[in-house]
Amino acid sequence: MKRIAFWVISMDNFAGSLKKTMGLLGLLIILGVLIISMGVWLRNAEASIFLIVLPWLLILSIAGLLTLTFLMIYAIMMLRIDRRVLPSLIKPVEVSLRVLYPFLTRVGKPLGYDKNLIRNAYAKVNNHLILSEDFRFMASDVMILTPHCLQKSTCGLRVTQNPELCQRCGKCNVDDLLFLVEKYGIKLAIATGGTLARRKIRELKPKAIVAVACERDLISGLQDVRGIPVLAVVNRRPEGPCINTEMDIEEVEKSIRHFLDHGENEE
Ligand code: SF4
Repeated sequence: MKRIAFWVISMDNFAGSLKKTMGLLGLLIILGVLIISMGVWLRNAEASIFLIVLPWLLILSIAGLLTLTFLMIYAIMMLRIDRRVLPSLIKPVEVSLRVLYPFLTRVGKPLGYDKNLIRNAYAKVNNHLILSEDFRFMASDVMILTPHCLQKSTCGLRVTQNPELCQRCGKCNVDDLLFLVEKYGIKLAIATGGTLARRKIRELKPKAIVAVACERDLISGLQDVRGIPVLAVVNRRPEGPCINTEMDIEEVEKSIRHFLDHGENEE
């Protein structure tokens, strides 16, 4: 079980773990057959309606779980071989991601897996889904959302209220972000927390978001935001969490371009 769970959350051991996953699926199918047999037996035995319905509920639950698992496996396979997810499967995979994530974190914890590993996998699959779609948003509809900890801790300027207050000294990535804002005409919001981030989204009404944050905040944001495509960029934390964090500005720019014109606006 530990190895199977590891396969689901690890992007690097996909090929070697395929056999083990098939083993798990086989086990679930056998379980399904046993439950069906039990249902038939109970019906023949003229059991109460409750005892007849219960096995079928279990069967449906297992079938649902299997479908979601297959969808997740499919998305991870597409990610591994760098192929797009079929358009008709993007929404179902999104659902499977949302449903399976709490399950994976609960299974992963007692097995000793770092939550951030699971969150990272979540962000990668989410991004792959978004990258499987074509977008052509207006620049003013695209927003970068970053946490306050990106700002140099020694800088007293109130860039959360207005990023334009930045003096562009180059000591932190706020300077780079303003460069991207000028270059593409997109919006930028720097938030001190989840509540403010949600408020900025309500106020600025973006149609697409490039979110930069730690794994925990990213996943919480991804689960909160519905109906808006979000590309997640995990920040770097050279001095530990929540202070003087950094970002891969090239990844951020690539994400912006995907929303603007699907990367065809290369200079
Ligand atoms: S680039 Fe310089 S002025 Fe701007 S927020 Fe960072 S430290 Fe402050």
